[in-house]
Amino acid sequence: MYPFSFHQTTNVAQSVSLKKEHTEAKFIAGGQSLIGVMKLRLDKPAQIINLGAIPELSGICVEGKTLTIGAMTRHAQVAASEDVKNCIPGISQLAGLIADRMVRNMGTIGGSVANNDPAADYPAGLLGLNATIITNQREIKADDFFLGMFETALEASELIQSIRFTAPIKSAYAKFKHPASRYAVVGVFVAQFPGEARVAVTGAGSSVFRLTEVEKALASNFSADALETIRISADGLNSDFFADSEYRAHLIKLMAIQAVNQAK
Ligand SMILES: Cc1cc2nc3c(=O)[nH]c(=O)nc-3n(C[C@H](O)[C@H](O)[C@H](O)COP(=O)(O)OP(=O)(O)OC[C@H]3O[C@@H](n4cnc5c(N)ncnc54)[C@H](O)[C@@H]3O)c2cc1C
Repeated sequence: MYPFSFHQTTNVAQSVSLKKEHTEAKFIAGGQSLIGVMKLRLDKPAQIINLGAIPELSGICVEGKTLTIGAMTRHAQVAASEDVKNCIPGISQLAGLIADRMVRNMGTIGGSVANNDPAADYPAGLLGLNATIITNQREIKADDFFLGMFETALEASELIQSIRFTAPIKSAYAKFKHPASRYAVVGVFVAQFPGEARVAVTGAGSSVFRLTEVEKALASNFSADALETIRISADGLNSDFFADSEYRAHLIKLMAIQAVNQAK
């Protein structure tokens, strides 16, 4: 490691004010991405602002059909929460499929969403449900938030405080894991809303994206039968040593069928 200043903050206003003062500073949540990036010298922030001691950033709250998860809530907490399981089973399932136990105990929903890794799971859940990202300065719909690989609509000093979801009729997430990293080679989140279906894919492109032809097919018939004749194009999909674009296109269809079959 190399020297940096570590700022322990206890509220959002203090964190944001420090970030404005030190423009090159980085917020740290669970460090599950940031520490790796720093070890590899891909980023060398001179100032780190810890969000771990800000009580208002953690916790899970359900009010009717609205589920709100604080940015610092760990994946393990989301996976274990009966409130999440009852309100939006697909999000509970997704959190339990992230990485391994150690990463789930440290990694946070806010860190995952802010990082927008192209193979991360939460972006698919947020886009599939068109969740709302609540920051210290505004509310952003998921449709407008994920801009590209590791790129979001967040401004330089903007801090994610929580994520708000509206419960669909049914939802589920299916993931074909990379056997080593456990990131998604392809992950598909499906959600059924009244008169509408939403389908979001991670792992297959430069950033999470919606699958409109599958959404159309599921809107009137939310069942695996509706997907039988669908052909997913490999154009523009990721291709690497582990999975080429044709294979990923095939996996998208399989994961979509699996998710629809599991949806509750
Ligand atoms: C071995 C390994 C396997 C993994 N496998 C998976 C997987 O299968 N699926 C998956 O989805 N993820 C996976 N991850 C990533 C993991 O889920 C973490 O959630 C993710 O890396 C973010 O980590 P973090 O919450 O600790 O955020 P950090 O690493 O602390 O921060 C990540 C970035 O977000 C910014 N940030 C953090 N919090 C906020 C906030 N509230 N507001 C604004 N910016 C913020 C930070 O400045 C930093 O740039 C894996 C990670 C590891 C190390």
